[in-house]
Amino acid sequence: MKKLLTIAVAGALVATVVGCSSSKTTPTPAPAATTGATAAATPKVDAGKKPNIGVAIYKFDDTFMSGVRAAISDAAKDKATVDIVDSQNSQPTQNDKVDLFITKKVNALAINAVDRTAAGVIIDKAKTANIPVVFLNREPLADDMKKWDKVYYVGAKAEQSGTMEGQLLVDYFKAHPEAYKSKDGVIHYVMLKGEPGHQDAELRTKFSIQAITDAGLKVEKVAEDTAMWDRVKGQEKMAAFLAANESKIDAVIANNDDMALGAIEALKAKGYFKDNKFMPVVGVDATAPALQALSDGTLLGTVLNDAKNQGAATTNVAAALANGQTPSKETTGYDVTDGKYVWISYKKITKANMNEAK
Ligand code: BGC
Repeated sequence: MKKLLTIAVAGALVATVVGCSSSKTTPTPAPAATTGATAAATPKVDAGKKPNIGVAIYKFDDTFMSGVRAAISDAAKDKATVDIVDSQNSQPTQNDKVDLFITKKVNALAINAVDRTAAGVIIDKAKTANIPVVFLNREPLADDMKKWDKVYYVGAKAEQSGTMEGQLLVDYFKAHPEAYKSKDGVIHYVMLKGEPGHQDAELRTKFSIQAITDAGLKVEKVAEDTAMWDRVKGQEKMAAFLAANESKIDAVIANNDDMALGAIEALKAKGYFKDNKFMPVVGVDATAPALQALSDGTLLGTVLNDAKNQGAATTNVAAALANGQTPSKETTGYDVTDGKYVWISYKKITKANMNEAK
């Protein structure tokens, strides 16, 4: 009991502890944030109606997530009503939106966390209200995913996208030995990182380089900085890299296409992509502007981050849960791994196969 009280006071696990206990064993009043101590009944879908899904996106102003948002709505047409809200890149704002969804008794939640380490708090809220929750794109920590059996994640394996990005450069340097500016057989690269702590930023950075060394090529980092997934910041950071070290840079690796496109703008300002002046730039996502850049010959390659299937899987898993079903291939159309995860594959995209990403 002493231990139980300590945990309850600590706060973070309060909803779980209280939710799992009978009223006899929970004399400690729940703190304000987790009132509604006894697990509520799952809000029922009204007879003859489609389930309501409350969707919170980390911010609307994100190119890739705009594609996912559209896919969520498209997939919902015949099976659910979706209320999609903008968390404006603020975790407290997102928590408020989640509280509002819970008050409205939505039948399921779909959450693109602002801060993936904050998923635990959202899970506690959802569990107390007994509303199933599907996270997407920003992967909660494994321990948080284990907090409740009605927690799911839809996403893509970040390391796979990093590996593919690295392979795009391997193919290029194998075909173009003249592209090593220093003539030392070493790829001197700059890295434009996404948001620190985001699994896609950390793992794409690591695995893109690992793919190059695994292929037996040598690499050396000239510079690395975060541009927070953002095109304008990507352009600014690349302009700074060029100002400091232009003659040394052989390649640009960006954790996403928006930052790659920003880098391309900075390179254009320095006369690249005409008169035989070229710099290989790779990204991830295969957004529409990135496909345009591939076709223009400015972007060397990208990796399809399949917004359509990530959005559809999110809707289907949330709808299945809202209808009281266990998500599976049969109920959602997608394989469910380890009882909790739907993984959508990445795909390498160059000018040669860009139609597959359209
Ligand atoms: C995408 C980025 C996007 C981020 C948002 C990543 O998977 O590649 O373009 O900004 O997700 O969380």
